[in-house]
Amino acid sequence: MSTIAAISTPHAEGGIAVIRISGSRAFQVADCIFKSVSGKRAVDMPGYTCTFGHAVKDGDILDEAVLTVFRSPMSYTGEDVAEISCHGGIFVSREILRAALMAGAEPAQAGEFTRRAFQNGKMSLTQAEAVMDVISADSSRELKFAISLKEGAVFRRIRGIIDDIVKVLGALAAWADYPEDDIPEVEPESFQLSLSTIQHKLVEIINTSDYGRIIKDGVSAVIVGRPNVGKSTLFNLLSGCERSIVTDIAGTTRDVLEERVRLGDVTLRLWDTAGLRETDDVIEKIGVNIARERLEQADLVLAVFDGSEGLSAEDHELLKGLAGKKAIGIINKMDCIDKCIPEDIERNFYKCIPMSAKQGTGLEELRQAIENMFYSGQVTPEMGILANERQLDCARNALKAIEDAINAHRSGEMLDAVTVLLDEACEHLMNLTGERVSEKVVEDVFTRFCVGK
Ligand code: GDP
Ligand code: MG
Repeated sequence: MSTIAAISTPHAEGGIAVIRISGSRAFQVADCIFKSVSGKRAVDMPGYTCTFGHAVKDGDILDEAVLTVFRSPMSYTGEDVAEISCHGGIFVSREILRAALMAGAEPAQAGEFTRRAFQNGKMSLTQAEAVMDVISADSSRELKFAISLKEGAVFRRIRGIIDDIVKVLGALAAWADYPEDDIPEVEPESFQLSLSTIQHKLVEIINTSDYGRIIKDGVSAVIVGRPNVGKSTLFNLLSGCERSIVTDIAGTTRDVLEERVRLGDVTLRLWDTAGLRETDDVIEKIGVNIARERLEQADLVLAVFDGSEGLSAEDHELLKGLAGKKAIGIINKMDCIDKCIPEDIERNFYKCIPMSAKQGTGLEELRQAIENMFYSGQVTPEMGILANERQLDCARNALKAIEDAINAHRSGEMLDAVTVLLDEACEHLMNLTGERVSEKVVEDVFTRFCVGK
């Protein structure tokens, strides 16, 4: 395999830049472009040691630098790796990379270091995917989730299910191969029980995958309510800027605005919408329809009511449309009145919060309610929560194959047919972990990486 090199730090000015070289000729390349003060050479240095010296090109000193040596297999990629840490200048780090390429290294593709780590058995595919999740994490919750993935939580959970399936397959094979021996016949009940246990485990994994999406992308929350209750004012309060137009003319917000909003450690993908009402205005009508659509898709509905007025027919209409949705009732304009929350609103919601969007009161209560609703359940990252669509797809395909196997067995099909379906389920799960996966999938995963990782 070729020896590759790339700048692994961001292409920006900084304290330090690192040029990473990996492959069987990594140390020879390093020795061409780095001269240590003590005369040490990379090829002779033990792993996990470093030495101070100069990066050089065509005999000229480019910079002072430190060379660190990692010997195969005890390195990130599993290959010999040399890392040159220089001053964090864009030009100087590029010059050192250029020198490495002139000395015989090839430019690394996006994610190629991690791809080699995967191919050399240093990590499973889910762990490799976690590397990018760690890099892109922007909250402590997201980081914890990514680290659990990196530590192999998903891999172990899926491997457990593969082992369960293999056990069932083993029993089937033993019975099919040696029917005349004393191997007990596959008991239909216990066989069905084993399969339904596997089925349940997969269903649970698929059902909890929403948690992973919510942690990574945030809770998608849509603000709905009739015109003039203060939706746009709430949207602006939450997003901390005047983006949505606030007026006392009903029907001002006609399209849907989206903003990524942080409320403490809660991330919201927040949508402001046109007020829900019957209208003859063509443009407003489109907005109202989009609002209804968003209401269907969102993880959370923030239903806003005007506390200074009674419930209108439109409010009642909205309440009806919320059945089965996770929703929080917001009783706005509490600065104008000192009434308690109307009971006919309260009983429709998991939680009702009195607020004044204009004065900014009630925010902490809202944050707490969302936190309780989405983050403090039974689900924790350590359980091994699927982290992306690819993983979810594999799990769904495996479930489908298991369900087909259950049905095939129930309807009295040959055990061979059942075996084929169980094999297929295993294939899908090994696709998920990367133990048996096509080049195409691997390609897809790693092209999402940055160069140098
Ligand atoms: P939307 O149509 O639901 O988006 O409502 P807007 O956000 O455009 O607000 C409609 C009117 O209500 C504006 O005049 C706002 O200033 C006013 N408003 C919004 N929130 C409050 C509040 O908490 N208290 C009071 N007193 N007025 C508010
Ligand atoms: Mg509005």
